[in-house]
Amino acid sequence: ERQETKLLYDINRKAGLFYYRKLTSSQNKGLQYLKNRGVGSNEIKAFGLGLAEDRWNSLLEYLTKDNYSEETIEKTGLILKNKKGDRYYDRFRNRIIFPIFNTRGMVIGFGGRVLDQSLPKYLNSPETKIFNKRKTLYGLNLAKKNIVSQQLILVEGYMDVIALYGNGVKNAVATLGTSLTKEHGQLLKKYAKEVVLAFDGDEAGVKATLRSIQILENEGLKIRILSLGKKEDPDDFIRRQGKDTFYRRIKESPNHIEYQIQKIRDNYSLESTEGKVDFSKEAIKLLQQVKSPIEQEAYAEEVAKELNLSKESLLKEIREKNQKYT
Ligand code: ATP
Ligand code: MN
Ligand code: MN
Ligand code: MN
Repeated sequence: ERQETKLLYDINRKAGLFYYRKLTSSQNKGLQYLKNRGVGSNEIKAFGLGLAEDRWNSLLEYLTKDNYSEETIEKTGLILKNKKGDRYYDRFRNRIIFPIFNTRGMVIGFGGRVLDQSLPKYLNSPETKIFNKRKTLYGLNLAKKNIVSQQLILVEGYMDVIALYGNGVKNAVATLGTSLTKEHGQLLKKYAKEVVLAFDGDEAGVKATLRSIQILENEGLKIRILSLGKKEDPDDFIRRQGKDTFYRRIKESPNHIEYQIQKIRDNYSLESTEGKVDFSKEAIKLLQQVKSPIEQEAYAEEVAKELNLSKESLLKEIREKNQKYT
């Protein structure tokens, strides 16, 4: 049992090194791809990036020569059985490799990206005895050493974490293509007091932002939201605008209540009475969740201004309904 876990860690470490050497020991299309995307040797080293060649079993060959059995290697998810069930082959082929580390710096799984437009764009290791996506945040092994202002920045993708790091923002982490879980929330809480949500600017990113707010709030984390352009992610943003602008945008970013008020406002036209009523209903529901009376009052003031109402009448409504339902 213990023995097997150790074997899985060993195999992953060796596989990571194998991919790393493939990428870095001679000029190749993986290096070219990363260079084109602005990823330099510092990031390659820090994240241990690698290349899986366009071959069916180069990793399998390498590891079996090192005396690991196919059955054991299979338990890392790095190889799979073919349809007939008589042979194994490498899961990751012709991809840039992103080793995934736990907070102790051990390799627990891998992500892989194609070098062109083919699909699926990303592939991850399956869940294994040592790899649980619900509990893992990509980049946390590095970010935890680089916390700034007690903040962690949460982004969607590997390349976002790496691009931010390469541009001097070293406290970003990403989920592994899954939505944020309670376990992720607890993990973030362990290292930070505040989380900056910096998801892609598309609709999926906005939805993920709203879901994540609930989870982070439950952990008692402070939350800020950095909104990007509709077709933009943090990788695009920092390459175009640089680190200083990125940090300025974080400083100016709304907290989760302000953000949600904005979102509700965007949904209704405050031109019409009906729109105002609907907006105020939703805003009241939102502000009822704010626990501190002082904060509640401050937000109520903002909303009231917008609606041309008195703060008092709005607060009364917020607090009356509160009592009814509790
Ligand atoms: P790139 O900039 O390389 O195109 P991205 O990170 O901007 O990638 P997104 O489409 O925004 O790509 O995806 C964000 C993250 O979601 C990825 O980093 C990856 O972890 C995960 N992901 C995306 N597509 C897939 C997929 N087909 N299977 C599994 N995970 C995926
Ligand atoms: Mn996305
Ligand atoms: Mn991207
Ligand atoms: Mn993206």
